[in-house]
Amino acid sequence: MRHKKPTPILGEHNTKTCPVCGKPSYSADGIHPQCAVQQADALRKQQLKAKEKTEANKKPLAQRLPQTRNQKKCPKCGVGSHVRKKICDCGYDFFKP
Ligand SMILES: [Zn+2]
Ligand SMILES: [Zn+2]
Repeated sequence: MRHKKPTPILGEHNTKTCPVCGKPSYSADGIHPQCAVQQADALRKQQLKAKEKTEANKKPLAQRLPQTRNQKKCPKCGVGSHVRKKICDCGYDFFKP
């Protein structure tokens, strides 16, 4: 009959090494309670730092360059209009000869 969970027997097999301090730990998680707190704290600081970094990388949309490539200048009033616009705001018809 097989055991689904290993029975806790005191001995070398049950000795886990704490991933934080590297010393052997006999707790169920294999990590010292105070080390777990330390690790959680470090992780929280790391996540906070990463969050600050991503926030800093975000560029405001207002800094985007204006799209002048799709603009044509009205010979009548000199105001730039979209190339697909047929009639300027001043009333000038771009497609009229
Ligand atoms: Zn530890
Ligand atoms: Zn115009």
